[in-house]
Amino acid sequence: MGAVADELRGVDAVIVGAGHNGLTAAAYLARAGLSVEVLERRDIAGGACVTEELWPGVRASPGAYTLSLLRPEIIRDLELERHGLRVSVHEPYLFAPFPDGRKVVTWSSRERTCAQLERDWSRADAHGYAAFAERWERAAGQARSLMSEPPDRERWLDAVGKGILDGSVAEELREIPSEQVRVPFAVQGLIGTLAGPDDPGTAFVGFYHDLGQAAGVPGAWGYARGGMGAVTAALRSAAEAAGASVRLSAPVERVLIEDGRAVGVALEGGEEVGARVVLSNADPVRTAALAGTEPLPGWRQAGPVVKVMVLLDGLPDFPSWPGAEPWQGTIDIGFTLGDLRAAADDARAGRPAAAPWIEAACQTAADDSLAPPGRHVLSMFCQCFPTDVDAEAAADTAIARFAEVCPDLPARVVDRLALGPRQLEERFGITGGHIFHGEMLPGQLLEDRPDRRRFGGVEALYLAGSGAHPGGAVTGAPGLLAARAVLEDLSG
Ligand SMILES: Cc1cc2nc3c(=O)[nH]c(=O)nc-3n(C[C@H](O)[C@H](O)[C@H](O)COP(=O)(O)OP(=O)(O)OC[C@H]3O[C@@H](n4cnc5c(N)ncnc54)[C@H](O)[C@@H]3O)c2cc1C
Repeated sequence: MGAVADELRGVDAVIVGAGHNGLTAAAYLARAGLSVEVLERRDIAGGACVTEELWPGVRASPGAYTLSLLRPEIIRDLELERHGLRVSVHEPYLFAPFPDGRKVVTWSSRERTCAQLERDWSRADAHGYAAFAERWERAAGQARSLMSEPPDRERWLDAVGKGILDGSVAEELREIPSEQVRVPFAVQGLIGTLAGPDDPGTAFVGFYHDLGQAAGVPGAWGYARGGMGAVTAALRSAAEAAGASVRLSAPVERVLIEDGRAVGVALEGGEEVGARVVLSNADPVRTAALAGTEPLPGWRQAGPVVKVMVLLDGLPDFPSWPGAEPWQGTIDIGFTLGDLRAAADDARAGRPAAAPWIEAACQTAADDSLAPPGRHVLSMFCQCFPTDVDAEAAADTAIARFAEVCPDLPARVVDRLALGPRQLEERFGITGGHIFHGEMLPGQLLEDRPDRRRFGGVEALYLAGSGAHPGGAVTGAPGLLAARAVLEDLSG
């Protein structure tokens, strides 16, 4: 280290941000014997993977709300179950009600889904779904391990084929004859994008969501008991048990650079912490600003999501499926492929979607640790919106849209919290409020995501958040890969 670095109180690794990836990196580095300090701007750890008390006595996950993709080796290596993580698969997998009273219901078992589709739709739909699901599961089986490896387009191409890697989700769903049955699967391909179902790259977005295994069940999604904060609480506990220090309310103002090499960070307020390496869990735009490097040319990070957390005084019935069971899984509202296209067209033209699509979940229906009896929180993940959308107006539109298939919902609403891209940015510190730290469409995948090493050309500065490969969602993979790169470089 040079003159500045010599004067600083130093650790081996300083990590900017205690999101799930920063905590994952911290745990791996501390277990390898490095001294590690994590600096988080908020007064809670977890980034977008948190449980917060949104109303007195009512806790919920205002960012990520369901879990699947967290890498099994991370759960195993860091002994996250010993640190308190409990994950259960939610059933149904998804429920998509339609205004005409019909519904698509899927389960984490393909056989059960086929039987349901044959009953509710037709034998041809069940067969079409089976062919699609079998093809994607075969490809997922080949691609899962690649999630924890450096990007390599050729290997991904071999594993999944060009249709999944570069094509549209609508094309991938072609074997399913009924359009309504295709809609909830198409929605999965649009998450975090300003795209419609015919756009290239949407197949991969949908497929990426099949690369997990909640509670060890391939492709399944589930709930962490206690909400998504239970994931980051377990990661933090594992990191601290290994000797890492996690400091809250410690916003980093800039990365200290000497002779082109990161040598530590300066906090707002002036304190400086020296380090042999600096890892940034912040998004690429924010990381570039902290390091004073050029913004990434053409990087797309405008968030299309409004997250609406709705406090309910009970669970109303869906006319298409009365009772409590449909509330246990994810609920997909998007009625036609044309609606999905129109929502993307609206947002791309700078207008809030007139008919947004919604993926909703109500963990309180499946987990009694979050709210008192009789109280529920409906989490509505709504797309597509321009970044500067009026979140309250978007929430009104989304609740009205949900009411088309659940007419008693508005009467059950006690309060709500509407988080548009700007509010997500303010709360979680993600520039543009983009859920994946940058869209995951062609041009921003695999090798096209910023390299985790030498971020912005700065030696010893590593990108450890979702902006790096393999991308967003609660996977832990960018944090794991950054930690591995640091250990390789420090030992080399
Ligand atoms: C509304 C929403 C819904 C989502 N739903 C799901 C879902 O259901 N399932 C799923 O798997 N994924 C979901 N995602 C995506 C997933 O939550 C994110 O991709 C993931 O949590 C990002 O993790 P990360 O560790 O890379 O970064 P982040 O969680 O963004 O963490 C970065 C951390 O860095 C901190 N930070 C930033 N700047 C500084 C600074 N200057 N100084 C100190 N600290 C700083 C931030 O405060 C933050 O804590 C959702 C995201 C959102 C926003």
